[in-house]
Amino acid sequence: MNILEKMPKKVIVITGGAGFIGSHLCDKLIENEYKVICLDNFITGRLENITHLLKDKNFKLLERNVTEYIKIKGRVDYILHFASPASPVDYLNHPIPTLKVGSLGTHNTLGLAKAKKARYILASTSEIYGDPLVHPQREDYYGNVNCIGPRGVYDEAKRFAEALTMAYHRVHKIDTRIARIFNTFGPRMRINDGRVVPNFTHQALSNQPLTVYGQGIQTRSFCYISDLVEGIYRLMHSKGNEPINLGNPGEFTVLALAKLVLKITRSRSKIIFKPLPADDPKQRRPDITKAKSILNWRPQIELREGLVKTIEWFRAGSEP
Ligand code: UDP
Repeated sequence: MNILEKMPKKVIVITGGAGFIGSHLCDKLIENEYKVICLDNFITGRLENITHLLKDKNFKLLERNVTEYIKIKGRVDYILHFASPASPVDYLNHPIPTLKVGSLGTHNTLGLAKAKKARYILASTSEIYGDPLVHPQREDYYGNVNCIGPRGVYDEAKRFAEALTMAYHRVHKIDTRIARIFNTFGPRMRINDGRVVPNFTHQALSNQPLTVYGQGIQTRSFCYISDLVEGIYRLMHSKGNEPINLGNPGEFTVLALAKLVLKITRSRSKIIFKPLPADDPKQRRPDITKAKSILNWRPQIELREGLVKTIEWFRAGSEP
């Protein structure tokens, strides 16, 4: 037995562990010999994302709403706060739970980190930049957010979450990290979560028209899930407490994305244009200079390759 085998496994609490990003993180952590305690209230998370882990002795699921007091027995080494509705449609459907999980949920998880002397990783978002007036977005840009608009419930909750995390770091000396996550896609997204990749994929595979909002000239940068998970894993093990952008800097218009999905799926669906939702950011691209230098991280999977994998996954799921 080597020395590593004798060391007790590190214990991680992850909130939102049954969600899209959370469940992929659970897989990565179990693979890397951590004990994982997954908390989820299943507002947008799904049991099927983690069913394969339920029999693992290092994995424990607790059905909890983290806006209420969290009690965990024993040692905890890391807390990853990933719980939140995260697609515009989801947070419009659940505006108050979104505000509560970003505020009360962040407070409770930071309190747990303080009590357990655990390292804390907050899942923040490119939404904190709002409809950005600086392009690409660097971490020192303060953003352009409409606090009372429909997206404000998510944007302001995450901005508050970042402020509280930094306050706990400064006042209580909690060892915190903040990941500003840009658009991410891949298997386990819900087909009806309203985000652009599942929408276009579902529409193309079921011969329905692809719904491009506005003229489709707004841009996004899409990061494949395995790249994002690697970035978060590196962030967990890095030094430094300032926020770091994690995303793929390749930038595409929404119309270009629609055409690419049609090409990959060989679908004959048409493209139709619908009104642009309120406060929809016109452009978005991460500056990842910091992630490159601090984490030695950059995305490996380009949009087309990631889409092929994602579409395959959706196709397999939609077959009888
Ligand atoms: N979008 C679209 N058609 C859809 C869904 C989304 O044109 O069926 C656009 C949306 O208006 C936005 C972009 O795609 O400009 C990305 O939307 P998503 O909901 O994926 O996330 P966001 O980046 O806005 O948070």
